[in-house]
Amino acid sequence: MTGERRSARVAILGSGPAGLTAALYAARAELHPVVIAGVPAGGQLLITTEVENFPGFPDGIQGPELIDRMRRQAQRFGAEFLDDNVVRVDFRHHPFVLETGTSGTVLAEAVIVATGANARWLDLPSESRLKGHGVSACATCDGFFFKGKALAVVGGGDSAMEEALFLTNFATHVTILHRRDQFRASPIMLERARTHPKVSFLPSTVVEEVLGPDSVEGLRVKNVVTGVVSELQVGGLFVAIGHDPATEVFRGALELDAEGYLKLHQETRTSVEGVFAAGDVHDRRYRQAVTAAGAGCRAAIDVERWLAERERPATAALAATSPKAVSAGPRSLAR
Ligand code: NAP
Repeated sequence: MTGERRSARVAILGSGPAGLTAALYAARAELHPVVIAGVPAGGQLLITTEVENFPGFPDGIQGPELIDRMRRQAQRFGAEFLDDNVVRVDFRHHPFVLETGTSGTVLAEAVIVATGANARWLDLPSESRLKGHGVSACATCDGFFFKGKALAVVGGGDSAMEEALFLTNFATHVTILHRRDQFRASPIMLERARTHPKVSFLPSTVVEEVLGPDSVEGLRVKNVVTGVVSELQVGGLFVAIGHDPATEVFRGALELDAEGYLKLHQETRTSVEGVFAAGDVHDRRYRQAVTAAGAGCRAAIDVERWLAERERPATAALAATSPKAVSAGPRSLAR
């Protein structure tokens, strides 16, 4: 670490759609946000190919390009970026202290946490090689590209059932593979999948290898009870084994739920006054680029109002002594 210290009225942690939209709104309110973007910067959209459900792009847009455009838009209004991770936070006193890996320390009056979540993967080399080429962790994002194909979904929870049911809109057939014969999915979701004519189940089965040179052509699977290895012909694999919110660094500093998601109180506020949150880091339900962007906007509006509220007594005192010295205050975001 360089030991350099910089001060910011608002620091934004993360640079997916939530962080970048928060940065845009905060920059346009002249709050001069410092964005600690994460490494690699950009979040889950960086591993998405074509995005067709972000409004405003009738012909679709590549995930990395969408992120690049959002970042340049925030920079145009003065947002400053540090391509670094936050490695330690101290939210006990003001200003808040954010230590980064190599870019020194940021002291911030307010913080927006938008560090997102990461899909869990099977951690197979063949899975990594074919990510974006038939292997996906988001049916809502990518299902449309698999029209007319037989598909496989891995997982035994509600996400796996939901992904499989959604994929029946495009696929000829969907096989759900689960490593056990007991499912975590809620009975209603399980029943919906079980009774769907296009869905079948392969319980007690694990994926050993994703097959195909440039795109998914099948899976080598193993029944963990019988030990029998076989091949399943599919044109795509959806991994739906859960997400992990990126909250490790906030453990002990902010209130988290049992699965590590940030708990919010009153709109975008976390358990610490002056620390706000937006996007997948607290949202396990919607997890879309557009909902994260909306959440980033909400958090920036809340931060602006919170800062204005905090600064009001000082401004009022100044007004009493010297009315002409009173500034117009930060520009309003909400228009
Ligand atoms: P989850 O409930 O934790 O289920 C994850 C599934 O993936 C489990 O069946 C688990 O198997 C399996 N798994 C985990 N790691 C694996 C690995 N390395 N290899 C193979 N399989 C693996 O996660 P989720 O389905 O994402 O759901 C998370 C939460 O969101 C739940 O509370 C859920 O109810 C909620 N949710 C609700 C809805 C809805 O109501 N519409 C939709 C989506 C999610 P084991 O069972 O053997 O551990």
